[in-house]
Amino acid sequence: MKSSVSRGLALKRLAGLPFAALAVGATLSAVQAAAPPDNKKQFKYQDKPGPKGVKCVGCRFFVKPNGCTIVHGKISPNGWCIAYAPK
Ligand code: SF4
Repeated sequence: MKSSVSRGLALKRLAGLPFAALAVGATLSAVQAAAPPDNKKQFKYQDKPGPKGVKCVGCRFFVKPNGCTIVHGKISPNGWCIAYAPK
């Protein structure tokens, strides 16, 4: 009798596991959807070249075709920000 009670309890706990996993998955995707934060303003990113015509394409942080390791999101190869550093 005792073993059937604990087996029933174990089954109930197992049955709850997929829901727990779903809850964790939903929380993670909500966090991933919110990140990374937009930091374009922080780095004063602009879609046009900076002083003396320097552009993202000539910056060491530029990642082809439209990325950057500093500024998040899509950027233009012809853009610029205050973190510019020549290659
Ligand atoms: S650090 Fe600034 S200038 Fe350099 S690629 Fe990224 S956005 Fe462009």
